[in-house]
Amino acid sequence: MPWQRSDGRQPDRLRPIRFELDFTRFAAGSVLVRCGETQVLCTASIESGVPKFLQNSGQGWLTAEYRMLPSATLQRKSRELLKLSGRTQEIQRLIGRSLRACLDLKGLGERTITIDTDVLQADAGTRTASITGGYVALVRALEKLQNRGELTQLPLRYPVAAVSVGIVDGEVLLDLNYEEDVRAEVDCNVVMTGNLDIIEVQGTAESGSFNRAQLNRIMDFAEKGIKELLTAQQAALAETR
Ligand code: UDP
Repeated sequence: MPWQRSDGRQPDRLRPIRFELDFTRFAAGSVLVRCGETQVLCTASIESGVPKFLQNSGQGWLTAEYRMLPSATLQRKSRELLKLSGRTQEIQRLIGRSLRACLDLKGLGERTITIDTDVLQADAGTRTASITGGYVALVRALEKLQNRGELTQLPLRYPVAAVSVGIVDGEVLLDLNYEEDVRAEVDCNVVMTGNLDIIEVQGTAESGSFNRAQLNRIMDFAEKGIKELLTAQQAALAETR
């Protein structure tokens, strides 16, 4: 019996990705990103001023917040617990680092960008969807600032996207859904630039260990997925111009 994914995808296929831009009205940039059944609302808000440690440095800052909604998962979770959890803290720091990497902070000037990522529905890959969608919200917000004449050029160094890759029953699989994620022996999250340079790799053997050959295959799958995500990001942004 050939090996089958629960949703019938080939091992190296992404879930369908969709970006709904300008999903909300008041944030400078907003997008609802859907990766299969995972849905994350990403917004980018820009304010003048920077945290104290950057005052008078001439450079800007980007920070990120991540939260799952109480009903985003099968079992409801309290808002308080979600706020305090170590997982939330870890994920929002990853999103912040990833999106800061793509910014020219000097070019941004003394402004602070806040990326808010709120998970409406969690079917695995919420941190990677937050980064991929957060980048789109960020660009949208910067373009609006530029259109208003507040920026002469976009302070962007390169695009950024992220994807998960895991090993389930010995098979390397791209972009796990929840059913796969809970069974995964290995769980990796990869963040890359438009040139496919690496910004961050998180990799954990949930049981046992994995070897170098498997890691190489994981990175090959990540590159393939991220290339497709970068194309989808650019297509979604181009539609609004
Ligand atoms: N999950 C959950 N409750 C939690 C944490 C995670 O139901 O408290 C589910 C959710 O579907 C999530 C998945 O487990 O997307 C994988 O979680 P992980 O921490 O690996 O992060 P993610 O893959 O979402 O970045």
